[in-house]
Amino acid sequence: MRILVVEDDPVLADGLLHVLRRSKYIVTHENNGKRADSLLAEQEFDLVILDMGLPDMDGAEILSRLRQRKNKVPVLILTARDNVQDRVLGLDMGADDYLTKPFDLPELEARVRSLLRRGVSASSALLQFGELLLDTVGHRATLGGHPLELTARELSVLEILMLRIDSVVSKEQLIKQLSGLGEEISENAIEVYMYRLRKNLKSGGVNIRTMRGLGYMLEKQ
Ligand code: CA
Repeated sequence: MRILVVEDDPVLADGLLHVLRRSKYIVTHENNGKRADSLLAEQEFDLVILDMGLPDMDGAEILSRLRQRKNKVPVLILTARDNVQDRVLGLDMGADDYLTKPFDLPELEARVRSLLRRGVSASSALLQFGELLLDTVGHRATLGGHPLELTARELSVLEILMLRIDSVVSKEQLIKQLSGLGEEISENAIEVYMYRLRKNLKSGGVNIRTMRGLGYMLEKQ
């Protein structure tokens, strides 16, 4: 599950990123309204957490442009406690839920889970490839009905590969997407994840094929 956090307050943004990453979501952060608008036009997210007051373009305009593009991604807006107008405007523009600042992080996590559940049908939350099943909301994977012991990173790598069945995913793409999770990722680390994933997948007829110089793709054996 990919979440975009658009928040220009560095302290609040840090807190949000910390709890969301701890909950194993792939999180991208943007602190500028205009850049957030371009990012939303270019990339797909499963949820957007949107502050209303932002530099260069405010949250209401970002939201209205998003809905004009017929993008239905769930949006949770963050508004100041005393600003009823912002809240009403946000909901009118097509926000799905709101939180007033300051809010408790556990409450935010609960809203995020609920919006993600509402936003995805059961079928798109579940990715399948052969005997391999990945629950992208519950962060669990099974192979032939048996649960796989995977770390958050390994699950994310698997999710990225499963979202692009029949196409090659390059190391650069993996590094770019995974760096949303926080720490920097090296090419060597990608190789380690692949090694671990292959070991886990070995018994179930699913393999990760290395396309020399191009990247990786899932295949059935
Ligand atoms: Ca702000």
